[in-house]
Amino acid sequence: MALYLTCGICGRKQADGLLSRGLWGQLEAAEHGTLRVCPGCKERHADWQSVVIEAAGTVPAGTGSLG
Ligand SMILES: [Zn+2]
Repeated sequence: MALYLTCGICGRKQADGLLSRGLWGQLEAAEHGTLRVCPGCKERHADWQSVVIEAAGTVPAGTGSLG
């Protein structure tokens, strides 16, 4: 059973693994579960957390910073 990480911004897919997990950004969004962002999008968007949440159509919970 192959698992793939899917970028929430550009839709790129990569086989899941320890290495790729370390490179990919990960964000827990209450409404959408785990959102992931590929290394390229992480580099391109300094605020990728906001970008991927927007892409997923989620509004951040309001309180609390995403760090
Ligand atoms: Zn991407």
